[in-house]
Amino acid sequence: MSEGRLLREYVKRLAQRIGRPVRLMEVCGTHTVSIFRHGIRAMLPEGVDLLSGPGCPVCVTSIEDIDWAIAFCKQVGGVIATFGDMMKVPGSDMNFFQARAEGADIRFVYSPVDALNIAVEEPDKEVVFFATGFETTSPTVAAVLKRALDERVGNFYIYSVHKLVPPALKALVEDKEVRVDGFILPGHVSTIIGSRGYEFLARQYKLPGVITGFSPEEIMQGIAMLLEQILQGRAEIEIQYKKVVRPEGNPQALRLLEDVFTLADSYWRGIGMIPQSGLEPAEQYSEHDAKQAFRLEFTSKPEPRGCSCGEVLRGVKKPTDCPLFRKVCTPERPVGACMVSTEGSCAAYYKYSY
Ligand code: SF4
Repeated sequence: MSEGRLLREYVKRLAQRIGRPVRLMEVCGTHTVSIFRHGIRAMLPEGVDLLSGPGCPVCVTSIEDIDWAIAFCKQVGGVIATFGDMMKVPGSDMNFFQARAEGADIRFVYSPVDALNIAVEEPDKEVVFFATGFETTSPTVAAVLKRALDERVGNFYIYSVHKLVPPALKALVEDKEVRVDGFILPGHVSTIIGSRGYEFLARQYKLPGVITGFSPEEIMQGIAMLLEQILQGRAEIEIQYKKVVRPEGNPQALRLLEDVFTLADSYWRGIGMIPQSGLEPAEQYSEHDAKQAFRLEFTSKPEPRGCSCGEVLRGVKKPTDCPLFRKVCTPERPVGACMVSTEGSCAAYYKYSY
């Protein structure tokens, strides 16, 4: 029997022995895509349900943040540099592509270094890097911010919408509507924060978690490890992805984050304000903090009526439960942010025809 079939059989037996429905949540967009691409849901026995959490940075970037960037271009006449997957995220009235068509100087870049280079090459322009992403991305942005300060690139700023995964998990488990028996924890984020960042889940909330790799075998193994814990009544944070993740994470990257950023409350689209779940430039980098440098006037609108992104991101609803799914909201014309990024749950459900 192949390794894959053996694992499937093992998962089935564990589920039978548990004898009740089990809900596991993956909190990483890359896991969401891999689970869909490899048809892992269909391989699971009845009673084991997979939910997608808020692990797609594009999906959780707020309308106000998109509006700020567009207002910056219009009111200051500066450049917004951003990753390509932000371009279609809906703001109150338009997305970045539409703003660009109206003359806003919004450029997509592959790394924050590209944004810094624009600032160096065009010293007469104010250049803001629209900094999205979780703990995987923020150390690179921290390094670039340090470089901007050292090299005195005075026209370079970051608009930080960086978010942290553990505070979001804490908010989820404290949400009475959310029912989860265990977490498939993100592989990439955990290379930075290690397993220690999630210990509170096991200690405080008695919930198991397994940091898992991205191949179908690794995901199935992660699920098996979670089911073993549930069957044995254990709640621990285990590492399936041992070839990459260490309990202590990456101390150098963590030190860099601590030097350059400070913790701040952050607004997660569809979820709301989560205390201490964001990163803002620390005091010594304040001259490169776009939020402090540019005070803009603009008004934002609420989320589009009928969009269920908030419930989808909390695992309370599946995208197919949203009345707009596929009928009104598609990847070509996304209504909510979960349909924009390839890592968004709605986009994944749409693409893989669930
Ligand atoms: S299908 Fe569209 S409108 Fe519905 S929750 Fe997903 S992104 Fe929002």
